[in-house]
Amino acid sequence: MRPDRKNTSLLIAALLISGLLAFGCNQTVQPASAGESQSTAGDASMDYEAKAKEELTPEQYNVCFLKGTEPPGSGEYDKHFEPGAYHCVVCDQQLFESETKYDSGSGWPAFYDSVDSDAVATEDDYSLGMHRIEVMCANCGSHLGHVFPDGPEPTGQRYCINSLALVFKPAAPSDKEPDTAAEADPADQD
Ligand code: FE
Repeated sequence: MRPDRKNTSLLIAALLISGLLAFGCNQTVQPASAGESQSTAGDASMDYEAKAKEELTPEQYNVCFLKGTEPPGSGEYDKHFEPGAYHCVVCDQQLFESETKYDSGSGWPAFYDSVDSDAVATEDDYSLGMHRIEVMCANCGSHLGHVFPDGPEPTGQRYCINSLALVFKPAAPSDKEPDTAAEADPADQD
């Protein structure tokens, strides 16, 4: 009698365990079958554009993602020459710096170089019946402007950039005072 009861108990336990395992497998399958995962392209530029649609003004979006151009002389950085850095308005990557900015007289902000060769990307642009070199943010792909071979030395390049594609960040006051701080500390003198 006892062996039968033991066998019966073992059989019931085995059935319960297998049932739990089967239920657990079903549970793990169900979340993975969520339909929306198939429509996720994994394209970073898609995320930046969606973010830009929510956060940028229509004028900024028109320049950055529809390759528009702000009217000449209208941009807030055309005649702006404060020390600091110019970042991408979409993804915040630094693109240009005030040291290479100059007044080209064109009505748009002009730089003779980017802050780093990897910061911007270029591409042939044959729109409007002419050949120009388009400049884009290398990180998010947003349109910035065009680059022309009529800039000043040392590069001879003129990056003609829309103010609407940029955010200026002034140089921190502390960046200008490392020498005075060092002079105020006499501890290192022999
Ligand atoms: Fe960007």
